[in-house]
Amino acid sequence: MKMKVLLCNCKGLCPSFKDTDMNTLPFQLECELEVEYAVLHPQLCGQGGNAVLAEALQAADRDTYVVAGACAPEAQRKLFKKVLRAAGFDERHFVPVDIRNTDNEGILSRLREAVDAILPQLQDVPAALSGE
Ligand code: SF4
Repeated sequence: MKMKVLLCNCKGLCPSFKDTDMNTLPFQLECELEVEYAVLHPQLCGQGGNAVLAEALQAADRDTYVVAGACAPEAQRKLFKKVLRAAGFDERHFVPVDIRNTDNEGILSRLREAVDAILPQLQDVPAALSGE
């Protein structure tokens, strides 16, 4: 399994990110989680953010999970629906995580939880189906 993390802090204007240090967070995640990379775009649902997401989705192989740390998962699923469809990305490999109203340690722990939730699902997939 490979994982890419895309982070969004709602243009830096939303008070729900006031305790987060977005300058240090990507590196922290890369050190503490097994991720290919973590990157921040301040408006993932805007034009540039959508383009970044689209490139990450298009470059992903079937073993890759794209984790989006941003607003509420339900909101993300709506906001990113078109991009996911256009990229032909398996929506089961898109993992939206709410990273608001906490600090870097809290975000780390939420993302770790999200990753831990993926692992048992993978173990349930017979090797023949997973392509191994
Ligand atoms: S993806 Fe969510 S957190 Fe990011 S700018 Fe859009 S609404 Fe705000």
